[in-house]
Amino acid sequence: MIQSTLSTDLITSDILPVLSKSKVARHTYLDNRVTKSQRENRRTRSQRARERLQTKEHLSRLAVGLGEVELADKLDRCHSRLSVLTCGRHIARIIPNFTCEFRLCPDCGRRRSRKLQSKYLPMMRGFMLHRKVTPVHLVLTQTHRKENRKQSAKRIKDSFTKLQRRGFWQNHFKGGTWSLEFTKDKKGLHHTHLHIIGFRRKFFDIELLRGEWLAVTGDSHVLHLKQIKDIATGLREVVKYVSKPLDIRRFGAADLKEFLGLKNMRMFGTFGEFRDFCKDFEPSDNDAAAVGDLESLARDLVEGCACPQCNQPLFDLRMSAKELPQFYEQVESSPPGKVGTSWN
Ligand SMILES: [Zn+2]
Ligand SMILES: [Zn+2]
Repeated sequence: MIQSTLSTDLITSDILPVLSKSKVARHTYLDNRVTKSQRENRRTRSQRARERLQTKEHLSRLAVGLGEVELADKLDRCHSRLSVLTCGRHIARIIPNFTCEFRLCPDCGRRRSRKLQSKYLPMMRGFMLHRKVTPVHLVLTQTHRKENRKQSAKRIKDSFTKLQRRGFWQNHFKGGTWSLEFTKDKKGLHHTHLHIIGFRRKFFDIELLRGEWLAVTGDSHVLHLKQIKDIATGLREVVKYVSKPLDIRRFGAADLKEFLGLKNMRMFGTFGEFRDFCKDFEPSDNDAAAVGDLESLARDLVEGCACPQCNQPLFDLRMSAKELPQFYEQVESSPPGKVGTSWN
């Protein structure tokens, strides 16, 4: 039931050789990341919906095992009944009966990550326009130590705070966002990574940044930097870790227990000049139009409205979460012009 081959093969297992071996291994790390996201993109919506169901069932079972009956009950109810607005070929909107808001819930995580995207994208576009900066995606890693997740997260965040105080950082960056990613390698060791969207003022040699990171951490020089060509895609990539902070299907009861102890830990934030910019930012109509706020567009859709993709009228289908993957399958395979009728 729980698949042993997961799409989210942990990047940590790819990082380990980097620390001990050659430069080639460092490139392997970069390549694996690309392969990983390509692999994720190849999964169909029905496969992803099925995986979310399995993840929730797994979490709920673990919660029951820990005596967290209330949590298990919330997870079971979350998104269990759905109202699906569809033309038969496209799904315009899904309204759940209940949302549990638990941080590891994959359905609530998706909602949270969509909210973050529609909140920060206009600010990022505005900031880039006004401050003449270019965005980069920076992944900071640290060497493994015997510590729990909380200690590991604190260590990497403290190092990042130190990095921001240094002249090199201030000369080259004007703030950005950070998010935490927790991973567990095949040996069961925890690793924490910091994903940063940094707004860069000017180019620099990556070896210099590596040196700076080594100077603040004392023992880590492994980082990855890539230019973000499209900020919407870059932001989506980074908030992914807010919705999916770790690979839950490899989770045991002890992991869930530890995670419940992290309740108040922040997983995403802004820093530097970008943080100040966000405080004062008032999006203009132009900004909203430029972003194309899909969330608010979808919010206004009701039964009888035209499907935004094909103009056919939308109808409201009630189904259980268990039926959704199959419905996605039907939608994915239905030829253009043919409206699925078996669900009427
Ligand atoms: Zn939920
Ligand atoms: Zn349609």
